[in-house]
Amino acid sequence: MTKDTIKTRDLLPAALSIAGSDPSGGAGIQADIKTFTVIGVYCGAAITALTSQNTMGVSSYLPLPAAFVRRQVQEVLDDLNVTHIKIGMVGNGEIAAALGEVLSSFAGEVIYDPVIKSSSGTSLFGPGSRAITEHLLPRTTFLTPNIAELEILTGRECTDTATALNAAQALFALAPRLKAVCLKGGHMDEQNRTVTDYLTRPAAGDQGEKEAAGRIFPVHHPRVFTRNTHGTGCTFASAFTAYLMQTNDVRKSFSSACAFVDILLRKSAPQPVGHGAGPLLHHWFSPETGG
Ligand code: PLP
Repeated sequence: MTKDTIKTRDLLPAALSIAGSDPSGGAGIQADIKTFTVIGVYCGAAITALTSQNTMGVSSYLPLPAAFVRRQVQEVLDDLNVTHIKIGMVGNGEIAAALGEVLSSFAGEVIYDPVIKSSSGTSLFGPGSRAITEHLLPRTTFLTPNIAELEILTGRECTDTATALNAAQALFALAPRLKAVCLKGGHMDEQNRTVTDYLTRPAAGDQGEKEAAGRIFPVHHPRVFTRNTHGTGCTFASAFTAYLMQTNDVRKSFSSACAFVDILLRKSAPQPVGHGAGPLLHHWFSPETGG
């Protein structure tokens, strides 16, 4: 079909999620689409890999051919008014390189949730993480790692908040377009009744504590003790992307995404879906009441 005469900028702004598929519906592209939809943002979905999994764990995955992943992304970018791209599981180095290439001419925001391992411990990117640093970090404007991913990407051990925030700072040297790191604290200090997530921006210079207070924005929330946490990382990054599209306010989007995951964790905690780590029940979120 030939293009009609509508200018791309006059089309509805859209997000594009680039991620793996979770057939049990809890994580990956399925979690992303549900998140964008309940928040009220249109999203496309380009699949990098198929996984075979259920709530008890990931048993295997099949990366798609890199050229085909690239083609999915290119065709969406050639048509839709994609302003924000959210990346999750990439699968392997060839796909990372293909994405790096196709995104080199994309000027919008790239929010990357660097999925390297599933919560059940299966590797979802291999071998090594060098291709992430080489091809994806240079394109990323917002990164949403958990502590384990931060340690792998920086090669630094994060034993407490200070070491984690220092490691997050080191990412800015690896990623020239990076505007902020959204550090998810759920796996830090797991016995603590409070979880703290941090939004951290690059240091402007060595201006001491005052400057640090301005660039580190913590969000505290009571820990929800539940095994139904499958897909929280994907959901957080998609919610942040959706709120950023709606508000263009980084701090507000960060706290709204933290609240979104928090509300869903609370609602989903008592309701088993499968026999293992259950998913978030996105369809129980009410946009009208924000809960
Ligand atoms: N993407 C896919 C396709 C997955 O299978 C998984 C985990 O199993 C993830 C992402 C990461 O999930 P989470 O949001 O729980 O970190």
